[in-house]
Amino acid sequence: MNDSPSLPNGQWPELLPGWVWLCGAGPGDSGLLTLHALNALRQADVVIYDALVQEDILNWAPQAEHVYAGKRGGKPSAKQRDISLQLVDMAKEGKRVLRLKGGDPFVFGRGGEEAQTLVQHGVPVRIIPGISAGIGGLAYAGIPVTHRDVNQSVTFVTGHDQSGETPSSLNWRAIAQGSQVLVIYMGMKHVERISTALLDAGRPADEPCAVVCAATTPDQQVLETTLGRMASDIANSGLEPPAILCVGRSVLMRQVLDWQGMMAGDSPRNLDPLGRGRPAEAS
Ligand code: SAH
Repeated sequence: MNDSPSLPNGQWPELLPGWVWLCGAGPGDSGLLTLHALNALRQADVVIYDALVQEDILNWAPQAEHVYAGKRGGKPSAKQRDISLQLVDMAKEGKRVLRLKGGDPFVFGRGGEEAQTLVQHGVPVRIIPGISAGIGGLAYAGIPVTHRDVNQSVTFVTGHDQSGETPSSLNWRAIAQGSQVLVIYMGMKHVERISTALLDAGRPADEPCAVVCAATTPDQQVLETTLGRMASDIANSGLEPPAILCVGRSVLMRQVLDWQGMMAGDSPRNLDPLGRGRPAEAS
């Protein structure tokens, strides 16, 4: 299973000694890595990776030293400084450094801070984007993050800030009213407060919601619920982070697009979950 695929012929960039490549690993499934990520894994002397990176991905860099730099949400940010400076030290030692982060490094991943520190210390960097959990994770659950009949905009929001609290700086009323679909990262801890804020701002209690845990991994679990019931359903289900919360009618599309369920033999629950009353191709 872990036999590493080969890169297609082409000019792949060389990871030079003293450089740091800051790379997204995608949400979990190693098939969602980019070819640039694979190219980096092949060349690195050291891979420094986060808690959310699936460890089987490290098998693709057997020659490299593997350094765990796990940080769990809500902890003080002192360790972030240590990680950034560790990257600087490794680069200054002349290593080829691959900094591997879950999802996309620039989406709620502090990748910007790490890259800034590197540049400030004169370390050359390359950024390799990855598939973010709020897009790819929802796709694995059969939920399109935009769908023409549902939303013309989508909001990505974090459920807690550096201190671990619900971001008080966020204007939840504006967020509630701003777009038809909300995709919430790190929302499990404060789901009660978040859903109350959205309800208070006028989102309906029966609005469809989904909770997608450990998306794209073998442990993926999906809970379909409503905004009014989301917090209690999560509490009763025992579901754990990491999870993406999705609020909006695009969740209904899972009734026809749960492709993993269909691969396992389920029939689609509803071929027209939005009730358009006409075939999808008729615009
Ligand atoms: N840079 C990452 C996000 C890091 S913040 C990205 O682009 O995806 C960490 C949060 O991301 C988690 O609390 C969770 O909300 C979300 N997340 C990351 N991987 C996930 C996964 N496999 N399944 C569900 N949520 C995930």
